[in-house]
Amino acid sequence: MKILIIEDEPSLRELIERAMRNEGYRVETAADFISAETKLAGYSYDCILLDIMLPGGSGLQLLEALRAAGRRENVIIISARDAVDDRVAGLELGADDYLPKPFHISELVARVRSVLRRGRTGGSLTIDVGNISLDPTSRRVTIGGRSVDLVKKEFDILLYFMQRPEHIVDKVVLAEAVWGDYADESDNFHFVYAQIKNLRRKLEDAEADMEIRSVYGFGYKFSMKE
Ligand code: CA
Repeated sequence: MKILIIEDEPSLRELIERAMRNEGYRVETAADFISAETKLAGYSYDCILLDIMLPGGSGLQLLEALRAAGRRENVIIISARDAVDDRVAGLELGADDYLPKPFHISELVARVRSVLRRGRTGGSLTIDVGNISLDPTSRRVTIGGRSVDLVKKEFDILLYFMQRPEHIVDKVVLAEAVWGDYADESDNFHFVYAQIKNLRRKLEDAEADMEIRSVYGFGYKFSMKE
């Protein structure tokens, strides 16, 4: 389980980080809006702990962008702004929980356990890009209304691209997101190439109007066919 802590207050961030590591979670942190945005663009998390007032922007904007991209990560808002308006705004934008500051760290740990147990339910949300439709919950993909069979890694790669259409995707970041920790080993790039090759062929065969383009020396871009 991988957790992202977005919190600008150093002592609180470190306290939460320690508590989450004690729970056995892998933890990453971001201390401001821009670094949070960068992390979210490159990686997926099982749970995001999100402060609202951040240097450089609002946590609510990050949440809005995440949901607009069809991302279903669990989000718990941790914020001193305990006004009813923020709570409502956060939940309307699709936060899974809201914990006003100050809170006891054991309370936060309990909330994280609870959202992770619940999983990403709450109705399936399909992601549509071009004529491709993908349901992350049932792991079903249709192209032009017809079902397409993908093996697990092909599905994971397509999901990653569907969440980032028309964005340049770094192949190292892609490999890490899909294969996990061992992706730095050069061997794994052969798997990335092989899976992308297969996925391209399946998209082509199903007459998808999106394609995976190579961006020389960098990675890929999932783009509308010209
Ligand atoms: Ca703050």
